[in-house]
Amino acid sequence: MVRGKKSIERVTELMKDPKHIRNIGIVAHIDHGKTTLSDNLLSGAGIISEELAGKQLFMDSDEEEQARGITIDASNVSMVHEYEGVDYLVNMIDTPGHVDFGGDVTRAMRAVDGAVVLVDAVEGTMPQTETVLRQALKEQVRPVLFINKVDRLINELKVDDTEMQIRLGKVIDKVNKLIKGMNEEAYNNGWKLDASKGTVAFGSALYNWAVSVPFMQKSGISFKVVYEKCRAGDMKYLAKNSPLSEVVLDMVVRHLPNPLEAQPRRVNVIWHGDKETKEGKSMLACDPKGPVAMMVTDISFDPHAGEVATGRLFSGSLKRGDGLYVMGAAKKENRLQQVGIFMGPKRVEVEEIVAGNIAAVTGLKDAIVGSTISSLMEMTPFESLKHYSEPVMTVAV
Ligand code: GDP
Repeated sequence: MVRGKKSIERVTELMKDPKHIRNIGIVAHIDHGKTTLSDNLLSGAGIISEELAGKQLFMDSDEEEQARGITIDASNVSMVHEYEGVDYLVNMIDTPGHVDFGGDVTRAMRAVDGAVVLVDAVEGTMPQTETVLRQALKEQVRPVLFINKVDRLINELKVDDTEMQIRLGKVIDKVNKLIKGMNEEAYNNGWKLDASKGTVAFGSALYNWAVSVPFMQKSGISFKVVYEKCRAGDMKYLAKNSPLSEVVLDMVVRHLPNPLEAQPRRVNVIWHGDKETKEGKSMLACDPKGPVAMMVTDISFDPHAGEVATGRLFSGSLKRGDGLYVMGAAKKENRLQQVGIFMGPKRVEVEEIVAGNIAAVTGLKDAIVGSTISSLMEMTPFESLKHYSEPVMTVAV
């Protein structure tokens, strides 16, 4: 586990190597436990936490959010996770679970390559689970599944361990049915969820534990043990021997694609320019040496630095002082002032950001959410962000 300054150094090293990056979002129906999962992942993994973010639940940093108790701001946080002896950088974008903020889910899905779909074990999939899953699949964002609140299944519904496994199996089947219906090609090409392969994890975000089949094989913590410990109220045993952040982040690193793997598939869907151009080739290859191609997915305001544009860098590298163009705006250079990554409410400046990362920059005066930024004066812009809400209405955001 790395913390504070050391962690920032590690993050900046890992940022340069897209093979070791995972850009992910957690998507869920409201109240299924997304905030609890995010917070516990952050406190469990090697993250930029106390020093930078204070002790508050920093995925919910916005005052309005806290007042309303729902997550609005799609903030961004980076974690370092070690898997099989190798460090990975997990960039997690927070996504709102409330249906009114569907547009924010859309933006977040443009920036990431993978999604942890969280479903409450007791409630099962709900309408917003379908909406956010559809959004992810439309953006060619690969899903894994986390079934939460397993403690409630055992302690409130008092199911036995066989019934528990049957119920969990039903949730997996339902989510698979949705994936198949929404993107059959991806489903047939390995995106079908399969607990035995480790693309599903089960647990309790609240009590900080989780299991997956690969982790069970490693740790010896079987469903039977989970059941018995839950019944006995010994959540501490599970949190210690089967920690939530380790199990969930192992699943993320092992099964969600890195930017090099994800971009060829994603660029074909989110960018309709000529793939034979310099920028086309470079985006498909996630090439840090190619022309800059970035899509702005969020604009926020910093009292000191002014407008901060956050977005996914699909090609090229960003450095302070670079002159860039905003497609669709007047053809004048916007000069980058600060180049950084967003970690909760704080931005951390770095020297350079390479393709495959999520960047937070200042100086792009002409950018708005949805803008395509390039070092080229002209390039085909990314497809506009469209939010698909039920049943067929399409709203541009
Ligand atoms: P969000 O709306 O998806 O962000 O949901 P929250 O994280 O705010 O959780 C909603 C409620 O469910 C809160 O009261 C949490 O304490 C509770 N909760 C979250 N995860 C679990 C869990 O694993 N078990 C139980 N029993 N409650 C949980």
